[in-house]
Amino acid sequence: ETLTNQIAAGEVIERPASVVKELVENAIDAGSTRIRIDFVDAGLKQIIVQDNGSGIASDQIDLAFTRHATSKINNEHDLFNVATLGFRGEALASIAAVAHVDILTSTKGDIGTHASFSGGVKKSQEEASARKGTQVIVKDLFYNTPARLKYLRSPRTEIMKIVDIVNRIALGYPQISITLANNGRVLLRTAGNGNLQQTVANVYGRHIAEKMLPFKKADNDFEVSGLLSKPELTRSTRNFISILLNGRYIRNFKLASAVMDGYGSRLAAKHYPVAVIAIHVDPLLVDVNVHPTKREVRLSKEKALSRLITSAVSEALVNNIE
Ligand code: ADP
Ligand code: MG
Repeated sequence: ETLTNQIAAGEVIERPASVVKELVENAIDAGSTRIRIDFVDAGLKQIIVQDNGSGIASDQIDLAFTRHATSKINNEHDLFNVATLGFRGEALASIAAVAHVDILTSTKGDIGTHASFSGGVKKSQEEASARKGTQVIVKDLFYNTPARLKYLRSPRTEIMKIVDIVNRIALGYPQISITLANNGRVLLRTAGNGNLQQTVANVYGRHIAEKMLPFKKADNDFEVSGLLSKPELTRSTRNFISILLNGRYIRNFKLASAVMDGYGSRLAAKHYPVAVIAIHVDPLLVDVNVHPTKREVRLSKEKALSRLITSAVSEALVNNIE
């Protein structure tokens, strides 16, 4: 079981940013309104994610760290109707297989629980007073899988990847206050007041947020809304286009291209907009169970969605500028 957990960890936990992503997604699924992420040494020495969500009851800790155990889906129907970010039940087991993990958690009304895991094995569990919510401390990531360490890039690059994933999650959840700190230095703090423009200001800076236009459009299946940069504000990469499907950040080249098509000739060659594209859709039209990291999804009616995005973008630009 330890070995299979390590193998599974290889798919889900590629680098420190994967740990951050999975833990923050768990915090969101737990209904948190405030999440704080602290990391040290590009996340290799320590990653702490603290939330004010539902917490885990002491008798559910073992299950939470068991592979393929999830509290989020119960049957096959749920698998095709996933409304949470997690559903595979792999993250905690995978992280605990390749690091030292401490968890301090409390549900409403109970005192709280502390437990620690190392290399996939539970070392201890006892009552410990805690505020409602969960704190997960991940130390010495990949200490027992040296081959994995070799695949990592420079600390600078690993930090960039952490910042990038937290930025995207923050853009998908403007109603949650998210703080990210490296060695105690705050890199990102979002207001969490539900205002997307404010969140864009927190993530990219006020000078960019001021040049963004709101848009919104729907058809029978999809609602798309968000913020688009005015054509004069461009970047040299597509990376500032964020596609958020029911809050989940996804990578989808076709949908990003649909955004670009909406700008059409307003953008010069090799110029890309800043855009936050929030798509809301019935989970039944989305298959998120395609890849362990859940970053790629299969979408029914993707062509119709592309057309909707292109026309929403184009209309917003026409109405607001021309
Ligand atoms: P998944 O998110 O796919 O269910 P995980 O391994 O990420 O799998 O988490 C396992 C279970 O642990 C979750 O289903 C949830 O019940 C519980 N859990 C994990 N993190 C938290 C958290 N921050 N707050 C409350 N419950 C949590
Ligand atoms: Mg999860």
